[in-house]
Amino acid sequence: MLLRHTQKEITPRSSLAVNPAKTCQPVGAMYAALGMNRCLPHSHGSQGCCAYHRSTLTRHYKEPVMAATSSFTEGSSVFGGQSNLLQSIDNIFSIYDPDVIAIHTTCLSETIGDDMVQIIAKASDDGKIPKGKTVIHTNTPSYIGSHVTGFSNMVRNMVEYFAQPEENKIRTLNIIPGWVEPADMSEIKRICGMMKIETLMFPDTSGTLAAPLYRTKKMYPDGGVTVEQLKRVGMSSATIALGAFASLPAAERLDEKAEVPYHALDLPIGLTATDKFIDTLRKVAGVEVPPEVMYERGRLVDLICDTHQYLHNKRVALWGDPDQLVALSQFLLDLDMQPVYAVTGTPGQLFERHENRTG
Ligand code: SF4
Repeated sequence: MLLRHTQKEITPRSSLAVNPAKTCQPVGAMYAALGMNRCLPHSHGSQGCCAYHRSTLTRHYKEPVMAATSSFTEGSSVFGGQSNLLQSIDNIFSIYDPDVIAIHTTCLSETIGDDMVQIIAKASDDGKIPKGKTVIHTNTPSYIGSHVTGFSNMVRNMVEYFAQPEENKIRTLNIIPGWVEPADMSEIKRICGMMKIETLMFPDTSGTLAAPLYRTKKMYPDGGVTVEQLKRVGMSSATIALGAFASLPAAERLDEKAEVPYHALDLPIGLTATDKFIDTLRKVAGVEVPPEVMYERGRLVDLICDTHQYLHNKRVALWGDPDQLVALSQFLLDLDMQPVYAVTGTPGQLFERHENRTG
């Protein structure tokens, strides 16, 4: 079948984007939602949007990414998507039984102007949201920002929907890891574990998109931050927000809502940013840096010294997401290399300020 549709002649293309530095907001919102335990992301728009977002994440993470859609037709495009969404909420809870439905909008539903707060309230009034279950949402119009904006919006709304103020704080630290890979989230938790710091990470895709393969299929892997944990983020003594673009809005909102002070840091990539991360953990949690962490740092410094003759003064061009570019540029400077170009598809003055600082 595929061969039948493969062109016999190979024609050179004049423009083609491979691994673009920008994709649409819902992709990020969906990735963040997958970092919640027993959560089904829901795309409020047409089937094509949802298929694109799911396939982007499935292809990258090599895991079957589940998500539902409001399946807009011509009628919904004219009259709005309320009835589709109400029906979806009903179907999803009765068939797939998630703890949370995390809705993100799309270009179409944003252009129509569907009021998500009102529709969710109506679903609740109509008894479509079973007791103990939650429907959350974030607005993700793709003609503004990028996938990073969508991620950031969804994480902020996890705070908006679940966080509760609590006067009596406990020693736990919230970690908002930013848009990093599941393995990075595991590594951040490993470092905190080595330092004997109790942490609460949200979102956390390490157990959902890097889950083991079992003989029987699990609709929801065991990992991800639970609703109970999200309700406790207001009790933590501080928040460490990694990556200003992806994590800062959630940390700021949590500070406003529950008076949890935050420390905004670059992603812990390379020597300087990781030093800063470890030092902040040390100060905030009031612990000593253990010898195992110093040993690993020493090996990195040794590697930097051993490769200095090959790397120093080399000019480097970077492209990617802004939080990664800021930390990587600093790492290149640590290596005595010259980051001369840094290109991102995510707009924002913050990135330009960082760029001028390192450039
Ligand atoms: S229509 Fe908008 S939300 Fe849907 S895939 Fe395209 S850019 Fe993304």
